[in-house]
Amino acid sequence: MAELAPQLFVIFGATGDLTRRKLMPALYQLVQKHGGSPNGGFHVLGVARSEWSDDDFQREMREALAEHADLSEEDLSEEDLSEEDLDRWCDERLAFHSLQEADGGPALGPLRERIEEIEAERGLPGNRAFYLSLPPTVYAQTVEQLGQAGLSESPGWTRLVVEKPFGRDLESAQQLNDRVHEHFDEEQVYRIDHYLGKDTVRNLLAFRFGNALFESVWNREHVEKVEITVAEADGVGTRAGYYDDAGHVRDMVQNHLTQLLCLVAMEPPAAFEADAIRGEKVKVLRSVRPLDAEDVTLGQYDAGEVGGEQVRAYPDEENVPSDSDTETFAALTLHFDNWRWEGVPFRLRTGKRLPEKRTQIAVHFRCAPVSLFENQSADGAPCDVAPNVLVITLQPDEGFDLHFEVKKPGEAIQLDTQRLSFRYEDAFGPAPDAYETLLRDIMRGDPTLFVHADEVEASWALYTPLLDADLPLKRYPAGTWGPEG
Ligand code: NDP
Repeated sequence: MAELAPQLFVIFGATGDLTRRKLMPALYQLVQKHGGSPNGGFHVLGVARSEWSDDDFQREMREALAEHADLSEEDLSEEDLSEEDLDRWCDERLAFHSLQEADGGPALGPLRERIEEIEAERGLPGNRAFYLSLPPTVYAQTVEQLGQAGLSESPGWTRLVVEKPFGRDLESAQQLNDRVHEHFDEEQVYRIDHYLGKDTVRNLLAFRFGNALFESVWNREHVEKVEITVAEADGVGTRAGYYDDAGHVRDMVQNHLTQLLCLVAMEPPAAFEADAIRGEKVKVLRSVRPLDAEDVTLGQYDAGEVGGEQVRAYPDEENVPSDSDTETFAALTLHFDNWRWEGVPFRLRTGKRLPEKRTQIAVHFRCAPVSLFENQSADGAPCDVAPNVLVITLQPDEGFDLHFEVKKPGEAIQLDTQRLSFRYEDAFGPAPDAYETLLRDIMRGDPTLFVHADEVEASWALYTPLLDADLPLKRYPAGTWGPEG
């Protein structure tokens, strides 16, 4: 596989959870595939306020890899790095810069000096990516500091990567976009929604636009409704500080579910390239009718049982205020004012402490226009014909199932629903991790799987009125599919 251009990958928030659990394992996979040779690949500079040395960072990241990446010998092919190669890679390619007080002020001058030093030592051409894996409250100031330090330009290319969440409503997203655009061109900016890096999410585009069969029935003539479900069995875990302030609409609906909605509902792009795809996604968002209160149900989990275990109610979770009115569940019905989807409801449902972890899109097709099989069953009773349903599963067992009707064996006409199934892993083996795909695309400069400024604002424009409205919160027992109705 092609080697990546020599570059410096600068991670702000390098002592944090995301770096340990996701970014380092993904970087490791990229080293295996693209950067193993002595002259190729990339260097990583971790940045945080903690007073770590290069050695500390290398040791911590090596431990993170041992814990979170698959380093087992039997999984390594002949071209892969051995454990010793990897140790050497960590020693030679990972460095750390501790943000001192001086950096907390208006300038990241010392960081700039460090970057230039590393580039000179290692013969790097000045290609830089700045990955903000920071608390969202410091995104704007960090972008400002990068700009003021002259780090938005370089002798090579410069890219800015911003983790989710990008804003907490329309106004704050616009302010953050304005700040970013003061220092960076939109082409330099990579807003992450890691759902877009999942192979099965990307495959939605291939499935829709590579198969004339489905595209020809993908409209209001043939589709009765679309359901998008992102269910989690977990509770709030250790994220209460962030989550209780944000709530489920901000944490899941505004980004992940909305991205899935766009990919299912969008028109075919003029070309398979970033601007064309992102432009079609924005059009989808702008054609959703403003949400009415009756189209939305919000819920919060009570105590209950999930996977055979008794679990606490949300307000009894660690670090959650006992009078919290944060939603942990949202169900919304969206309607489009466009030719393709007029009259077809799109139902979005997502929550914590649901019976299982599952991400699924179900496209329900309309029933046959004439029922030929009424009164054809053995006992003369009406013979129900179930509508065809296409179920696209994104996790846990990625694949497709097409539910269709067949005649049961025997003299009488009795119909039975069967399914044609395709499982991604059976056909191709395990899919790459979403972060590996996204980091590779950042390093290559392919923005297709990243969220454009217009897209993020169109999404917030849709949900901000809902966040501002004082909607009732319904309770649901943990381990159920959400509140009644
Ligand atoms: P952590 O709290 O674990 O890490 C935050 C990092 O930011 C630390 O390295 C911390 O290091 C640094 N930091 C904190 N405050 C400041 C500051 N004022 N100035 C500079 N650096 C600071 O968070 P996560 O790693 O979990 O998340 C990082 C980002 O990624 C968040 O925006 C989150 O929403 C997003 N994200 C995380 C996911 C995950 O699975 N963890 C999943 C999806 C998105 P130090 O204190 O040493 O400065």
